Amino acid sequence: MKEIYNFSAGPAVLPKSVLLKAQSELINYRDSGMSVMELSHRSSLFEEIIQEAESLLRELMAIPDNYQVLFLQGGASLQFTMVPLNLAKNQKVGYINTGTWSEKAISEAKKISGLDVQVLASSQDDNYAHIPDLNLEIPQDLAYLHLTTNNTIEGTSIYDLPKAGKVPLVADMSSNILSTNYQVADFGLIYAGAQKNIGPAGLTVVIVREDLLGKQTVPSAMLDYAVQAKANSLYNTPPTYAIYIAKLVFEWIKELGGVAAMESRNQEKAQILYDYLEESNLFSSPVAVADRSLNNIPFITGQPELDKQFVTEAEAAGFENLKGHRLVGGMRASLYNAFPIEGVHALIDFMTKFEQLHGGK
Ligand code: PMP
Repeated sequence: MKEIYNFSAGPAVLPKSVLLKAQSELINYRDSGMSVMELSHRSSLFEEIIQEAESLLRELMAIPDNYQVLFLQGGASLQFTMVPLNLAKNQKVGYINTGTWSEKAISEAKKISGLDVQVLASSQDDNYAHIPDLNLEIPQDLAYLHLTTNNTIEGTSIYDLPKAGKVPLVADMSSNILSTNYQVADFGLIYAGAQKNIGPAGLTVVIVREDLLGKQTVPSAMLDYAVQAKANSLYNTPPTYAIYIAKLVFEWIKELGGVAAMESRNQEKAQILYDYLEESNLFSSPVAVADRSLNNIPFITGQPELDKQFVTEAEAAGFENLKGHRLVGGMRASLYNAFPIEGVHALIDFMTKFEQLHGGK
């Protein structure tokens, strides 16, 4: 089998052991004679899978009992609309603008009539190369304050949350859920598309405090958290196979020591690459040191043609998906939970050789 390192920002690398387990169960799950894809979502076998997935996620993130866990569809992008529809009506809502995905969340909220969308802080002027100062006076009449804890495209992370008082924090954690150890109780709602640290695309996880449910009349059952919560995420047919793989990933994280262990592995992987970038005469990180993401690490040579050549040669050498996002250019190495440390060492060896051939800054 072709061996490569997959630096994709998402859908992203999954643990090999998870894929092997899925393969071993593919055509005959628990001696049912069926694959998980063929099970009814109302069957006891699938019910066990979804319940186990929820209870593992609760354990891994120490989710308090007064929070509901929902397995939904529509990607993180649908949450840009579901959050304001469910949490506010004719009210002020606050946003921190730290990147392209925050911008999209803001623009979707603005489409909902009657909402007063306020951007309380932004680093747009700096191409989002840092996190703006979040030591802010948060107006206490906001229905919620939305932030993106990890900016997948720009490579920044929010490590210190704003002190929002009684205003619920809503976090898009798509690219650092289960890889950085946040306290769920600090948030009113957390959402994440699965395709980075959880499993396959098609599943979206929402963790929401119960007192925030059922506050608004939502014009669609599918978009209503309260309906989804009441039905235990089985209001309609959920993405059953994606939930099954997520369960296997949760088991894998638990076996390796949980989120704290993931975080320290991620810190180690990221540090090795950042240290190299600091010393390199060719490559550098465009991101402010204090705000650097553990999961998405952009880097550049400063010469677009050379960046292109690097990406091409890297791909030929088995380093896949290093091309930076089309909006920012350069390169980006995404080092999610399942990315092996050996791949970081191998990348640095490759970059060192490239640097020797192509000179200094
Ligand atoms: N938010 C963030 C932080 C993301 O990284 C992404 C996807 N890369 C999204 C939202 C959009 O996710 P989806 O494609 O699941 O809608």
